Amino acid sequence: MTQSSLLSSLFRKEVQALSAYKVADAKGLIKLDAMENPYNWPEELKNQWVEELKNCELNRYPDPEAKLLADTLRVHDAIPECGDILLGNGSDEIIQMLLMALTPGAAVLSTTPSFVMYRQISLSLGLNFHGISLQNDFALDVPAMLAAIEQYQPAIIFLAYPNNPTGNLFAAEALHGILKASSGLVVIDEAYAPFADASFIEQLACYDNLLVMRTLSKMGLAGLRLGYLMGHPDLIQQLNKIRLPYNINTLSQISAKFALTHPAVFDAQSQMICKHRRHVFEQLSDIPEITAYPSSANFILFRTPLDQADAIFSAIRQQGVLIKNLNAHGGLLRDCLRVTIGTETENETFINALQNSLR
Ligand SMILES: *Cc1c(COP(=O)(O)O)cnc(C)c1O
Repeated sequence: MTQSSLLSSLFRKEVQALSAYKVADAKGLIKLDAMENPYNWPEELKNQWVEELKNCELNRYPDPEAKLLADTLRVHDAIPECGDILLGNGSDEIIQMLLMALTPGAAVLSTTPSFVMYRQISLSLGLNFHGISLQNDFALDVPAMLAAIEQYQPAIIFLAYPNNPTGNLFAAEALHGILKASSGLVVIDEAYAPFADASFIEQLACYDNLLVMRTLSKMGLAGLRLGYLMGHPDLIQQLNKIRLPYNINTLSQISAKFALTHPAVFDAQSQMICKHRRHVFEQLSDIPEITAYPSSANFILFRTPLDQADAIFSAIRQQGVLIKNLNAHGGLLRDCLRVTIGTETENETFINALQNSLR
């Protein structure tokens, strides 16, 4: 089964051209590469959660609509009456559902850099992805975005708010301009909402083409795989036809609902992460060779001296800390590394490792 002729007759050329999403091996390392919440749950909360899991019936299929969980999310996020909600096995699956629903060859617009799955899934489905470069300070280039909307007539636009991997929030005014100019869908991806003081959820009442996407991953439940999309009921209804019937498993439904009804623990953790983010940013800013970029998320992007990013990344890993090397992406990300905010000790270990690697 190694003949390339066989592969090329079976698989679309877009699929053959892709490489699989690679996850670095973090064994034995302090893991500051993937925007995970570093904190555990209090023992008492864990016990209550296990009690709830005991009652679930794993011999039965899950509730196909995950109604109890959807209602809980509605309250938790104060989703306006006019919006419906679609759940996904992570927001990655929601991005896939959205793109699968489009007409073949449709145009997809986002920024460069932005979250890699917008591009990856678009290409895997044979869609025409266009990434419009951000400005040097990572702000949206509004004239370039508007020109691209005019030129490509995108069926969908993805904007991460705050953006990954840059960490900044785009100007709300710019997003309003794009929403008004676009006749296609505009997805505002609020994966980092727990760490940002901004949201477009309230704007769902104002724009029929607006979809707001969130996830529980960055808040502290990455292992559950739960993302959700909010928007006009007519849009959600169409997407529900693409969704596989039991995409949210029983354990995730129960666990997510349980976590959302105990918000104090997770709110406190998010606040702690924001506090440490300020501290790490100050420490990075104090290192003369490093340029750190302000962040509204649970990570910080920073720039190393010219052509030293790969060596610094390796030296940090050598000292037991895994962060993310973005240098190979090129463009605005040349010489850039990204660190997720961890516990106080993990952050200290990282800063020390970075300082050692600059000597
Ligand atoms: C991490 C991330 C996601 C993916 O979230 P999952 O729910 O874990 O699939 C989506 N969008 C952005 C911008 C992210 O950084």
